Amino acid sequence: MGSPGPGQNTQAQAVTRLAPSPTGALHPGNARTFLVNWALARQRGWRVILRIEDLDTPRVKPGAVDETIDTLRWLGLDWDDEAPLQTADLTPYRDAMSTLANLGVVYPCELSRAQIEAAASAPNEGDHEQRFPPELRPASFRQGKPTGFDRAEVNWRLAVEPGLVAFDDAFAGPQSRDVARTVGDFVLWTKRGQPSYQLAVVVDDARRGITEVVRGDDLLGSAARQILLYRLLGLGPTPRYTHLPLVRGPDGRRLAKRHGDTRLTHYRALGVPAERIIGLIASWSGVAGPARAMSARGFTEAFDISTMPRHDITFTEAHERWLIRGTPPEHDT
Ligand code: GLU
Repeated sequence: MGSPGPGQNTQAQAVTRLAPSPTGALHPGNARTFLVNWALARQRGWRVILRIEDLDTPRVKPGAVDETIDTLRWLGLDWDDEAPLQTADLTPYRDAMSTLANLGVVYPCELSRAQIEAAASAPNEGDHEQRFPPELRPASFRQGKPTGFDRAEVNWRLAVEPGLVAFDDAFAGPQSRDVARTVGDFVLWTKRGQPSYQLAVVVDDARRGITEVVRGDDLLGSAARQILLYRLLGLGPTPRYTHLPLVRGPDGRRLAKRHGDTRLTHYRALGVPAERIIGLIASWSGVAGPARAMSARGFTEAFDISTMPRHDITFTEAHERWLIRGTPPEHDT
C-alpha cells in the first residue's frame, strides 16, 4: 500500500487527492468516484488533499472553483490540505519540460489535427484519440538535434519508445499497455502555453507525494502514460492506482450534459438532500440492505470496496425519481 521506495521519506502515511475539474459538472457519476476515494481514505487513514484541476479545462467560468468546493462540502466530504490552483504557478511544469528536453525526449510539433489524421491510421481502443506515429516527428529531432524547451506557444510531444508498461491496478487488476502503439507521441505541453493534463497530473502528484490515485476508469489508459513520465522524470515510486467503473446514461454513454441536467447543484436547488444522493451512490456501490438515505460518514462505515460492482452503472429514470421524490427504486441498478 503506497510504501515509500528507496530514498523516499519514510513517513508511513499514505496520501490521496480529490482532483475535480472545475467545469461545474459534478454529477452523481463523478460524485461517486469522489465519495469512494474519500471513504477509502477515511477508512484507511490516508491524508486527503483537494486539488482543483483548473488546467483541465480551457475556460474556467467565474465561480466554478468555489461551486465545486461548496458541492463537495455539501456532500459531507472534507480534506486535510488544499493544493494551490494549478494555474497559479506554471514553474514546476516548465521545469519538468526542461528536464525532458535535456533528456532529448520531447520536441515541438506544429502539425494540425487534420495533418496528423491524414498521415496516421484510424484511432485505437475505440476512443477518439488519434495515434501519433514516430514518422511524424520533425526531421531535426529524428536526426538527433533536440532543442531546449524554448517555445511555450507550440505543442510539445513526448517521443514514446515502444514497450509495455505494466502495473497492478487495485480495482481493475493487472494492466499492461504499449503507449507507442496505442496513442504514440502524446502532447505534454499545449500551444496555449500550458502543460497538458498528463504532464500536470504527474508533476502535481509527485510534488505532493501522492501515493493513492483513485479515479474513473476512463483514465485507465492515461495511467501508463503517467508512469512513463514518472520514470523519465526520475520521480520515484508511482502511486498505487485504483480505477473505478463509471456511471453511464441510459444510452450507455458516460453521464454528461446530454443526459439532461444531472448536476448536483441542480438537485440541490430542487431541495434534494445530500443524504439521498449518497444513498443512491451507496446502492450503486455494493452497500448491502435496502436503499436508504445516508451521510458521507454513514457511507464510509457501510462501504466495502470488495463488494463494489465491477461493471458500469446506468443512471435510470427510477434513480432520478428517487432523488427528486425520495422513493427508493427496486433493485434495478
Ligand atoms: N480532473 C480529473 C477529473 O475530474 C481527474 C484526473 C485524475 O484524477 O487524474 O476527472
